[in-house]
Amino acid sequence: VLSRCLNTPEKSEYMKYKDPKQPILVRIQDLLDRMTLEEKIGQMVQIDLSVASAEVMKKYFIGSVLSGGGHVPAPQASAEAWINVVNDLQRGCLSTRLGIPMIYGIDAVHGNGNVYKATIFPHNIGLGATRDPELVKKIGAATALETRATGIPYAFAPCIAVCRDPRWGRCYESYSEDPQIVQDMTEIVSGLQGDIPTNYPKGVPFVAGKKNVVACAKHYVGDGGTTKGINEDNTVIDWQGLLNIHMPAYYTSIMKGVSTVMVSYSSWNGIKMHTNHELITGFLKNTLGFKGFVITDWEGLDRITTPSHANYSYSIQAAILAGIDMVMVPYNYKEFIDGLAFHVKNNIIPMSRIDDAVTRILQVKFVMGLFENPLADNSLVDQLGSQEHRELAREAVRKSLVLLKNGKSVDQPLLPLPKKTSKILVVGSHADNLGYQCGGWTIEWQGFSGNNRTVGTTILAAIKNTVDQSTDVVYKENPDAEFVKSNDYSYAIVIVGEHPYAETDGDSLDLTIADPGPTTVKNVCGAMKCIVILISGRPVVIQPYLASIDALVAAWLPGTEGQGVADVLFGDYGFTGKLPHTWFKTVDQLPMNVGDPHYDPLFPFGFGLTTEPTKRQICANQSLRFSCNPLDLPMR
Ligand code: BGC
Repeated sequence: VLSRCLNTPEKSEYMKYKDPKQPILVRIQDLLDRMTLEEKIGQMVQIDLSVASAEVMKKYFIGSVLSGGGHVPAPQASAEAWINVVNDLQRGCLSTRLGIPMIYGIDAVHGNGNVYKATIFPHNIGLGATRDPELVKKIGAATALETRATGIPYAFAPCIAVCRDPRWGRCYESYSEDPQIVQDMTEIVSGLQGDIPTNYPKGVPFVAGKKNVVACAKHYVGDGGTTKGINEDNTVIDWQGLLNIHMPAYYTSIMKGVSTVMVSYSSWNGIKMHTNHELITGFLKNTLGFKGFVITDWEGLDRITTPSHANYSYSIQAAILAGIDMVMVPYNYKEFIDGLAFHVKNNIIPMSRIDDAVTRILQVKFVMGLFENPLADNSLVDQLGSQEHRELAREAVRKSLVLLKNGKSVDQPLLPLPKKTSKILVVGSHADNLGYQCGGWTIEWQGFSGNNRTVGTTILAAIKNTVDQSTDVVYKENPDAEFVKSNDYSYAIVIVGEHPYAETDGDSLDLTIADPGPTTVKNVCGAMKCIVILISGRPVVIQPYLASIDALVAAWLPGTEGQGVADVLFGDYGFTGKLPHTWFKTVDQLPMNVGDPHYDPLFPFGFGLTTEPTKRQICANQSLRFSCNPLDLPMR
């Protein structure tokens, strides 16, 4: 009253939760005490950008937004465009009574594939072939920077699935069939979120700063073990098998401070993971001590039932009681909000469960400094597609290549290729197609075709960059037998493979590569020396053509930096990659993993021939340190 009489502004109330000097748990408790049920439930909701607006954020106290699968706000959207989208929604949240910021998430699964010009790294299968966790950690840090560059602080990565059957459409999102490799690659968590300090409490979410993002280990658990690799299906395995194969990478991710875990659409022995109290609350939270938040997959709650969304009230109850904290895209978010409120008001779901969920969500937001810095700025935009990140991606491509065959006999290796020769032929659907090189989860959920949706180097362009000026490079996408015979080529490089796909659309029971790939291989390899480079998200049928192929390279889905392929092909670097998956002879052998009694592969898990870099390159690599004469080096 006095301040009003004196016409001076009222001193605003001290709110502990807004004070960064207070311990985080104190801030959370203070905030929780002030929140209504509606405000709490809002925190547990993550809506899609397509239904989000500042008004919706404000009206429903929404806690999180996502762009699932890469819904780019405008064609070739810039980092600035993304920042505006995120900040506009954030302002809606900040204008609420308590001003709790939302957290925006995106599928940055091989770099920030959601924006024009970003560096696209090899998909996880290629990273598995590198066997290089330190490299993968650097990729995590670069991905975090390029995601933060667009104002987004949360990446739904890494996918730590252990793909046990390549028929699964998400096999390329898995580092390996081998749990140990997947576990090693969780180093990416330290890259994305930053290095957890040694004395940091176990299980507590960690994000180092504004150059890092909140990571998400997905999809808990057993997503890569479904029968015949059918996406979102049933994983039949006993407890010991689940623990040995699918669980170890969760353990290491949690030890590295992973802040969130996404639940799998799949079932374990017939029980939907989204309702599995024993595994979510019992094992993940209580046994492993995970203190971050557990998020559903996209419409994961709806898909608990078949048909989807039947008996929704039950699904809400089952999932929240199982231990789910945040719900990604409830199909109808208003129905979800009302449904959850109903369960709480009727004591079907205890308030303590809601408080636990909200505590976990707020903890991540406090830890990452979102309350202090809710709005994104443009200080990192020049990180997007930076030269440094492209060099890193190029290195990853080099190390991911697996050489499966090199010459028709061991004493006549074909690779590395000479840079200087008269005329070479480059062919195949995947030679000059950036979209195919990148695969799914790039610009569009299902990936794209062609060269103008983002920036990068196709393998064809890389070959042209690398060969000697005097070498004539002839390119023909699909040459017929006549064309092939019409000239005298030193050799041909044939680049074929799978077309981009994501999730269920990629499930394949036959694992063949589509025509004209096989026809091109037949036409060309029948007529001259040929090097086949396979662009694929997994081992595919190759045995019928193998005898006609002189050299064979698995390049996986290398991303935007096709230069890395030419670097190794022409001997500037050696081949070092090792198979992260068993390569089958015929699909009826599947599933077949290393250690199986019927193991009879075309190329075993871990296989990969090596080549030495050419002498000149050894000198080039060392030239800064001491003088190097190529003639002094031992022969290759
Ligand atoms: C996928 C997740 C992804 C989510 C959001 C789901 O369909 O299974 O891996 O993070 O969509 O895009």
